Amino acid sequence: MAQAGFVLWFTGLSGAGKTTLTEALVPQFKARGLNVEVLDGDEVRTNLSKGLGFSKEDRDTNIRRIGYVARLLARNGVASITAAISPYAEIRDEVRTAVEADGVKFVEVYVQASLDTLVARDVKGLYKKAIAGEIKQFTGVSDPYEAPLNPEVQVSSDNQTVEQSAALIVAKLEALGLLPTTAALAAKA
Ligand code: ADP
Repeated sequence: MAQAGFVLWFTGLSGAGKTTLTEALVPQFKARGLNVEVLDGDEVRTNLSKGLGFSKEDRDTNIRRIGYVARLLARNGVASITAAISPYAEIRDEVRTAVEADGVKFVEVYVQASLDTLVARDVKGLYKKAIAGEIKQFTGVSDPYEAPLNPEVQVSSDNQTVEQSAALIVAKLEALGLLPTTAALAAKA
């Protein structure tokens, strides 16, 4: 039977590790025979959501669009990975409800990292600007972030390597029957 699609929904502050983990997982998923598509927050904002800003309303619209596309893909057998901050719990839950109503699994991954780590890391140079007030409505500094209360997986880039965090996600997907185990693949070969 063909592998079922699912939505792997990353949420976490800018620089927490959503894109990095996506890049680590895609080749692993492909190696196990999955069709994969990625909706990366930064990329979506340059095309699908071009023109949207960072007000609550625009952020919600952005997340609803990402959720809509991820759902269409997933219900057609694709492993849809989304990597957007998605700061508001209510909108994430709204997307989850719509995805699950289509009989598709929604796997929320909270990529946790402390603000101290993120400011020290400052991958995109944004935190220093946000703290200096040069960027308004910056999530975690001057705009809210609502951490998920019951994510399927929680990882932390404060104290895990990329490989360790990726392995926790792979294990959860295997346990949910969404990703064939290497043993199952070997048995089929
Ligand atoms: P985001 O997509 O959430 O904005 P990025 O993936 O662009 O974040 O940046 C995350 C940074 O954190 C990268 O430089 C990455 O190497 C580093 N990092 C350290 N530990 C981890 C981890 N366990 N998981 C993901 N990223 C990590």
